[in-house]
Amino acid sequence: MSQIGDMRERHKREIEELQLNCPHEELEGWMKECWDPAHGTGREVRPCKECGTVVETKTTALTRATHQTQRRQHDNGQRSSV
Ligand SMILES: [Zn+2]
Repeated sequence: MSQIGDMRERHKREIEELQLNCPHEELEGWMKECWDPAHGTGREVRPCKECGTVVETKTTALTRATHQTQRRQHDNGQRSSV
């Protein structure tokens, strides 16, 4: 294997190890997840400050899905109380 390939492999393994062992205690603020500057994914992510693992995600564009879930929970509550 070339030296650069070997280095990249070693680096990758080091990062994986860091992310596995990290308790993710301190998180960054919410930031928009983008695959390029002009196109957001409609999601926001909170990565860990230490290792960069995305610990929390939330959907900002698809509010309809969230609304449906809330309504379903409400219906269940009504049914059990009647
Ligand atoms: Zn972490």
